[in-house]
Parts: sequence; structure tokens; C-alpha cells
Amino acid sequence: MQKLQGIAVSPGVVIGEALVMDNEGFRIPRRFVARDAVESELERLDKAIAAAGEEISFNRDVVSRELGQKYGAIFEAHLQMLGDTQLRGELEEMIRQRHYAPEYAVSRTLRRYAQVFQKLESHYLAERANDIFDIEKRLLRSLLGRRREGLAQLTSPVLILAHNLTPSETANLDRKYVRGFVTEVGGLGSHTAIVAEALEIPAVVGTGPFLTDVSGGDVVIIDGDQGLVILHPDEETVARYRHEVEEHRTLAVQLEALRDLPAETADGVRVNLFGNIEFPYEVDHCAKRGADGIGLYRTEFLYLGAENEPDEEVHYQAYSRVIRTMGRRPVTIRTFDLGADKLSHMPSPEDERNPFLGLRSIRLALRNLPMFRTQLRAILRASVLGKAQVMFPLVSTILELRQAKMVLSDVMEDLDERGIRFDRDLPIGMMVEVPAAVMMIDHFVKEVDFLSIGTNDLIQYTLAVDRSNKDVVSLYNASDPAVLKLIATTIEAANKSGIPVNLCGQMSGNAVYTMFLLGLGLRQFSVTPSAIPEIKKVCRSVSIHECHGIAQRALSMENARDIKSYLKGELRKRVPELSP
Ligand code: PEP
Ligand code: MG
Repeated sequence: MQKLQGIAVSPGVVIGEALVMDNEGFRIPRRFVARDAVESELERLDKAIAAAGEEISFNRDVVSRELGQKYGAIFEAHLQMLGDTQLRGELEEMIRQRHYAPEYAVSRTLRRYAQVFQKLESHYLAERANDIFDIEKRLLRSLLGRRREGLAQLTSPVLILAHNLTPSETANLDRKYVRGFVTEVGGLGSHTAIVAEALEIPAVVGTGPFLTDVSGGDVVIIDGDQGLVILHPDEETVARYRHEVEEHRTLAVQLEALRDLPAETADGVRVNLFGNIEFPYEVDHCAKRGADGIGLYRTEFLYLGAENEPDEEVHYQAYSRVIRTMGRRPVTIRTFDLGADKLSHMPSPEDERNPFLGLRSIRLALRNLPMFRTQLRAILRASVLGKAQVMFPLVSTILELRQAKMVLSDVMEDLDERGIRFDRDLPIGMMVEVPAAVMMIDHFVKEVDFLSIGTNDLIQYTLAVDRSNKDVVSLYNASDPAVLKLIATTIEAANKSGIPVNLCGQMSGNAVYTMFLLGLGLRQFSVTPSAIPEIKKVCRSVSIHECHGIAQRALSMENARDIKSYLKGELRKRVPELSP
């Protein structure tokens, strides 16, 4: 049994069979070969080695001719590794003695070699691991050939174990069969993590390298509550986790009973619980859980994974479905927040070394006006079908906000001229996710109809910590007093000026913070749909008066660790069934 500690990004526990993805995104099955097929499998291996050798020699010749011998020598080193008799001997041993298929033997052996290099002190030598991965890829390409299987052909439930999954790959996972996933890289606030919650499957990211220790078909436990991954669990552990799965189920059934009750505190204050969605189908998950509306529709997912830029009709159909399903309940449509880790068909800027500080979000929209206008036209057309609101992401200056509003009024004029109906009083809001916006919040509140605090980004920009980097995850902390003060300032400014303020970052769906946020005066929470029942449970179990005291006490503390443990303690006292 092997335990890996990663970062918990989507709750729940699942026990199942592993499907291991290689670093090109193809699965490497742990296949065994029959005793009488060993010779022919060895022949297949030798053919693959020869084919890979030919490819490398060809590259060496081209590069030597074009750039000189010195550069060709890089490939010479690859050829030497490929022809190494020790490597060939180890592969043969795995196939002959252990009856592993050549693909599995190649992957396992070369990854072990690469690991040795990766652990070396010398940066130069550690980089050589990439050469080994390159050879592995070549051999696998040749061995798997047409038999390479992607994630499209799943026929039974699996847990995906991969080096990395992009947000769009995650979005396209087959919901019927994928029951959980683990990635070696990734951070707490990455969009891959957010999509995992949307899929409602347990997920752990940022475990560090482990794929060499596991094979397709192995039993694995993913504990999305604690961020643990257990490879080859013993019977006792499996039994303990089975019990936990049952407990999760029982709690979910208890919480379901709250569905038709309002999110109202014990002293009668009504709170709005909205859902965050990435895909139109999730509106059904929100409706099923009694959401008061959609607080954040991440429309950029219409672009991710699409071959072409979605046209106005594609936008319109998606928004119509969501708005119609919600009826009189509000739907906040955020204009596309592309860039950084959410890349679409658009070419990325060439020199973007800090994409989270680069051309993303509203900045990208304002540089691509035809694309922006297409989306705004669709939102406006759909606005007559229910109660829509539009929201701009990542606003950092007043002028930027005014520019976005001008584009919107320009599109309105355009529709008017063409006699197309839209909601003239469509509320216009902005996300507060950059500290600069908080510093200037007294000005912003005069120019928008509502605010929504995006803590996922606010944390990263306040603490200068990349939301998707596992190596700085301990700094990526919603409990940090600096972050809490910015949230308090924003809520206070909105309440003072009488405009609604929502909080739609992941923090909103974490029961640990609910009392604190209620105590600051927040009355709108927008959370991943599966978190609605839990947050409602907290709201119904506490009074605003006690929450106020808790918020004041937390704000007086000086470090994240004390604040978090204080808030956890307060939650445990009042709603013990939700305490981790
Ligand atoms: C946020 O930053 O908190 C947010 C809700 O937006 P996203 O996670 O899509 O960046
Ligand atoms: Mg954001």
C-alpha cells in the first residue's frame, strides 16, 4: 500500500480501477502476454526499437546538416541510450519473466530511469530526464501505433491518473465512466480543480510524480476530502473507506431534505444561495438543489475544447437554456474569461511569460471586440427570456470598466436599430478579483449594479501566489488576514452604497467560511452546485448575531493558521456533522 498526499480539490471518496495516462494523454494498459507469445512480443519490441532508432537517426542527419554536428550530437546521445544493452536486457526480463506487454515494460523501465535523473542535484543532469521521456514517447508511439486509445473509448468506470489535465480536457471527461481523477501537478485554485467540482467527482491534484508506481487496472482510493491517494490499498483500508462512502451517502440524503427550505438564518435573515456553472447542463443540478439562481456562469467553457470560435447562435442557445430553466431566478452571465490557464482556439500571445498577469479576461475581450460583441449580442437577445445579468471579469481599473460598458451600450444601440428586443434594465456587474479594484471600490460601486467577489483570483493576486502551482499551495490560503480584509472592505462598500454583493470564488462553497462571511454582511453566496445543501445547512444553524462576533474575532487575528483553526472550531461547535 502506498499513500500520496496531494491537494484536495473536489470532495468525496471513491474506490476504483486506475486508468493511467501517459504524458501525451494516451493510456498505457498493464497488459500481460501469454507465455507462448513472449517471443513474438520481443520481436515487436525490437521492431519498435529499430523504428525509433531510424526516426532519431533521420532527425540527427537533418539537424547536423542544417545546424551543424554539435546539435546533431543531441540525437546521437538518444541513439546511444536506445541501443544500450542494459536497457534492452531489462525490458526483455520484464517481458520474459513477468510477462508484461512491451508497452508497459517500456513505460515502467524508462520512467524509473528518468526518476533517477530527476533526483540528481545537478540541474543539467536532471534535465536529461526529458531525453528519456522523449525516447519513451517514441517507443510507445511505435508500439501502440493505431491501438492508442484516448479517453473516448471508455466502457467501464475508471479513476484517471495523469500527469496533468487541462481545464478543457477535464471538461471533456466522459461523465458516465470517469469517477475521479488524480494529477501529479496542479494547484488548489486551478480551473481543472473547479471543473472537477462541476463534474461532481472526487479529485486530488499536485501529488508530485507517482505514475511510475501504478498500472492500469490497479485498485486505487481517491480521498477528495483529505487530498489523499492510496495505491494498492490493503483490505482493512478498503473496508474503512467503504464505510466512509456510506457515511457520505447518508449525509447527502439528510441534506437533501433541506432542498425546499429557504437559506434563512436562525434569526430570520434570508440569504441567497446561487450556483456556479461552467456548462448549461449544470443548471439542472442547481435547480435540483433549490438554488436561488445562477451567481456565476463561466461562459469561457463554450470556447474551451471547441474547434472553432462559437458563433452568436451557439452562445444564444446556451444562455437561453440556462435562463429559461431558472425562470424568475437571476442568471449572472460572466463574459468570457479566457487566457491564463483557459486557452481556446485563439493563438496565445508569443511572449506571455506570466499569463496570469497577461492578456486574459476582460483585457482580452477589449482587444478582440468582434468576439466580445458577438457574445454581448447573444446575452442581450437571451435577456428577454428571464432574469439575466451581465458581469465583467478581472476588472482592474475604472477606465477598463467604462470601456466594457461602452461596448455593451454600443451593442444595445445596434440591436435597437435592428429592432431586436432585449432587457434594457439588464443589471451590469463586475468581479472584484484584483486588489486594485478593492482599493478603488468606493468609485466602482457608483458605476455598477452589483459586485461579485472572485476570491480564487483575489487570493492569487493579493498574496502573489499562482493559483495552479502546487509548490506554493501552502501560501494559497483563503484564511489569510490580508485576503479577509479585502473581502470585508468590498462587502462593506457595497452594503453602504446599497448594491448587492455576491462571493463566487471557491471559498464560498467551503462551510468553514460561511459564518465569517455572514458576519461581514454577505447575503449572497455563489457556490458549486453540490455545495448548496451544506452551505444552506450552516445558514439555517446559526444567527447573524453570533456570526458577527465570529467575523470580528477572526479579523483581529494575524495569521492564516490561527484564523482557519478558529473558524473550524466554531463550525464544529454549531454544525458538527459538517466538520472534517
Ligand atoms: C474567481 O477568481 O474567484 C472566480 C470565480 O473566477 P475564476 O475561478 O473563473 O477565475
Ligand atoms: Mg477569476
